[in-house]
Amino acid sequence: MNYDSNNIFARILRGEIPCNKAYEDEYALAFHDIAPQAPVHLLVIPKGEYLSFDDFSSKAPAEAIAGFYRAAQRVAELSGLQEGGYRILANTGADAHQEVMHYHLHIFAGCDLGPMVKKGLV
Ligand code: AMP
Repeated sequence: MNYDSNNIFARILRGEIPCNKAYEDEYALAFHDIAPQAPVHLLVIPKGEYLSFDDFSSKAPAEAIAGFYRAAQRVAELSGLQEGGYRILANTGADAHQEVMHYHLHIFAGCDLGPMVKKGLV
C-alpha cells in the first residue's frame, strides 16, 4: 500500500483541517481524538509520511523515531498522565482495524482502562 497524502491526518498536519492540538514539535503533532474512547484520548502522529507502526519503525531515520517517541512521552507528561497512568496503542493493519493510514499512537487515560484487549479472543 502506498501512502495517500490526502489522508485525514496528513491534512491536519498541513493545517487544512483543524484539530484540538495538545502538543507539537519538529517530530510530532498531538491532538485530541474526535471520538474519544476514554476521558483522555490523544493521538500522536509523526510529521513524516508513514503508513503505520510497521512502516515508521522500519523506514524512518533513527532521529525521527527517537524524536517521535520522546514527543509522545512529553505529551503524557504535559497532560499530567504520569501519576494515574495511561495506555498507548497503535492499531496496525486490518485485524487491528487501523482506519487512518498515517501512523499514530493512541494515548488513553483518565480512568481505570480495564483489560488490555477485548476478552474472549482466545
Ligand atoms: P485507528 O482506528 O487506529 O486508525 O484510529 C483512528 C482514530 O482517528 C479514531 O479514533 C478516530 O476517532 C480518529 N479521528 C478520525 N478523524 C479525526 C479527526 N479529524 N480529528 C481527530 N481524530 C480523528
